[in-house]
Amino acid sequence: MSRKFIRNDGRKPEELRRPYKIKLGVVPRANGSALVQSGKTIVMAAVYGPKKVIPKHLEDQEKAILRCRYNMITFSVKDRKKPGPDKRSAEISKLIENALSNVVMLEEYPRTAIDIYLEVIQADAGTRVAALTAASLALADAGIAMKDLIPSTAAGRVNGHIVLDLNKEEEDVEDAIDLPFAYIPSTKEVVLLQMDGIADIEEIEEIIEMAKKGCDKIYEMQIKAIKEKYGSYLEE
Ligand code: ADP
Repeated sequence: MSRKFIRNDGRKPEELRRPYKIKLGVVPRANGSALVQSGKTIVMAAVYGPKKVIPKHLEDQEKAILRCRYNMITFSVKDRKKPGPDKRSAEISKLIENALSNVVMLEEYPRTAIDIYLEVIQADAGTRVAALTAASLALADAGIAMKDLIPSTAAGRVNGHIVLDLNKEEEDVEDAIDLPFAYIPSTKEVVLLQMDGIADIEEIEEIIEMAKKGCDKIYEMQIKAIKEKYGSYLEE
């Protein structure tokens, strides 16, 4: 019998990174905020709104506009990152915006803007999925009407093994596959699916199953974090 595979940081294949932490209300002046830490990756989300749209010509009479800005701060990686937006951050901002627009009830807030700032404080792979997880929590913390939360994580293949929540060292292994994923637990609708690497269809299905299980674990933690902060309101 083959020995159980243990990863470079001591995890089992189906384990999230340690620590995996969620904290709500980390930015007092924002309408809602959240911090998500997955191992060495730390992302903070802050929501401002619904508020007046500036510039006014961007206003939508029927619904709110959702604007996301994903940013990696200069000291989030070992070698200082050049500050400011780039193609990668623009792409990630857009895909998080798209994923969230499936759950935020934008039509409840016509002629307003909801701004979401996602700051990567420390990056060690998986920043987009941590950012999306934090964003939906910050929206909930802001009291914005939503159909559900969005848990998000990545799964993939490292040295021939299917694993959950890859760290940077794993992502950098030759032939590694990384598949960032998110779905809406109540409807099972997939709202984020990307993939780096080459795999056959059976393998992709296995990776997606692994990512879903990870999302389910994160969803439980998201709900727990909300209950811990707002439990007394929910019981009324
Ligand atoms: P994600 O962080 O969502 O996995 P990528 O796959 O693009 O997104 O990036 C993987 C990791 O590579 C990041 O989490 C970060 O650790 C590192 N990285 C990305 N962009 C840069 C950069 N400009 N400078 C240094 N490291 C970077």
